[in-house]
Amino acid sequence: MICNNYRMIAERIRKMGKRLTKQRMLVYSLLMSLSKPATVHQIHSSLIKRKEKIDLVSIYRNLDFLEKAEMVCQCDFGDGTKRYEILDVKNHHHHIICRNCGRIENISMDEKKLVKKVSDKTGFLIERHILEFFGLCPKCLKI
Ligand SMILES: [Zn+2]
Ligand SMILES: [Zn+2]
Repeated sequence: MICNNYRMIAERIRKMGKRLTKQRMLVYSLLMSLSKPATVHQIHSSLIKRKEKIDLVSIYRNLDFLEKAEMVCQCDFGDGTKRYEILDVKNHHHHIICRNCGRIENISMDEKKLVKKVSDKTGFLIERHILEFFGLCPKCLKI
């Protein structure tokens, strides 16, 4: 199995009362092992490399299920390509993306003050936010 968290993942899916299929486990545990947002094609080629038999259509279908089950979420970096990652409220983070090489890093930060500021200013109860950063990574800066 791809991920040593197999039992934990299996338990999580079972608790949600969902049917545990091999393919859902495959896609989910692959995303866990990558720990970075991945495109459908990246997910597909990683699984093929690991000798798993799964086609693109099935990956789309399984991602759709996992997204509705709020186990996986989409990231939009404004380049027209959908990326997926594990949705974990305990691991809330943002991304920084290199516009030259496409490198993606996860970043955790304390934005409580910022969220409060927006809430105070607008009177909104803020339920979620998306905050992504774009630029050039240190490697690309040197070129
Ligand atoms: Zn945040
Ligand atoms: Zn770069």
